[in-house]
Amino acid sequence: YVGFANLPNQVHRKSVKKGFEFTLMVVGESGLGKSTLINSLFLTDLYPERVIPGAAEKIERTVQIEASTVEIEERGVKLRLTVVDTPGYGDAINSQDCFSTIIAYIDDQFERYLHDESGLNRRHIVDNRVHCCFYFISPLGHGMKPLDVQFMKAIHNKVNVVPVIAKADTLTLKERERLKRRILDEIDEHGIKIYHLPDAESDEDEDFKEQTRILKASVPFAVVGSNQQIEAKGKKVRGRLYPWGVVEVENPEHNDFLKLRTMLMKGAETEEVDKDMILMEKEAEVSFQNDVPLQNHSLELSTIKLNFEVQFVYRTDVCKLLRRMQQMIAKMQAQMQKQGDGDTDSV
Ligand code: GDP
Repeated sequence: YVGFANLPNQVHRKSVKKGFEFTLMVVGESGLGKSTLINSLFLTDLYPERVIPGAAEKIERTVQIEASTVEIEERGVKLRLTVVDTPGYGDAINSQDCFSTIIAYIDDQFERYLHDESGLNRRHIVDNRVHCCFYFISPLGHGMKPLDVQFMKAIHNKVNVVPVIAKADTLTLKERERLKRRILDEIDEHGIKIYHLPDAESDEDEDFKEQTRILKASVPFAVVGSNQQIEAKGKKVRGRLYPWGVVEVENPEHNDFLKLRTMLMKGAETEEVDKDMILMEKEAEVSFQNDVPLQNHSLELSTIKLNFEVQFVYRTDVCKLLRRMQQMIAKMQAQMQKQGDGDTDSV
């Protein structure tokens, strides 16, 4: 049971007809429990036939992109979930290559969507744009590794990054808190933009506000995943068995798994606005590339390069309006450029 059938009514109604499309990317070093967490989140085995490479194979490999799609139906609401895994991330000696592969994938999905959206057959567009990226941080370090920092910085303008502390059961509560604080400090220090849940509106009820507050305070989510059902207090639960007891995946007192899942579902509500904003930037980028000389690029783009927090404030209409304005400006600039070229020719 995933919980997307419980979205607020308005969002729900709109989505029931067409169903949801959601693409989640998972990135992090091998062995951090990415596949286990995804299987625990969506209760589907996305990788039944996966072959885990041996150490020798790993050294040879660069990162790969593996997209797996499942359709989940819950009380008549359909979710087309695509999980994009990046096996081999962090294994290669040259991390820059692996960054480029992942970034190229994210960009490609955007371009494809953009292309399809401007085409004739708009009704049947499959939206494979990456909506969110879970970034797995090792519980063993005292904070983030340089690789973590570099990667997040490389993608934070392209996709919503949600940092996750893997295998939280290997840490005491105190250690978890310390690691969380350290990671947040580093995120701040390096100017990394992570995904922020929008604040609850002032007219929302108190429970909702409190839930939002707790979710926001739990970042980075320290999670535990498991593919096993274990008997705990007479009930079968998903968990990990230790000599001293059971760590339950879906127990909010044991780890942040449920919070992460709630966040994901809340994220799905605002996702439309967010996507449109990024799409707008992307379109502007494309039109600039086609129409205007390079030196104008960064200047014009910076005026619309809004961070994620601002993006959520924007409504879809504003995005569309801005997009149109940007296109008009680009066209005008191209025309001026042409005229300018003409003048120099005649001199
Ligand atoms: P991936 O390479 O990141 O996809 O990692 P896997 O999901 O294949 O998990 C690697 C190993 O870590 C497996 O033996 C899992 O059973 C174990 N594992 C996964 N999640 C957790 C967790 O939350 N806590 C602990 N202690 N081990 C985990």
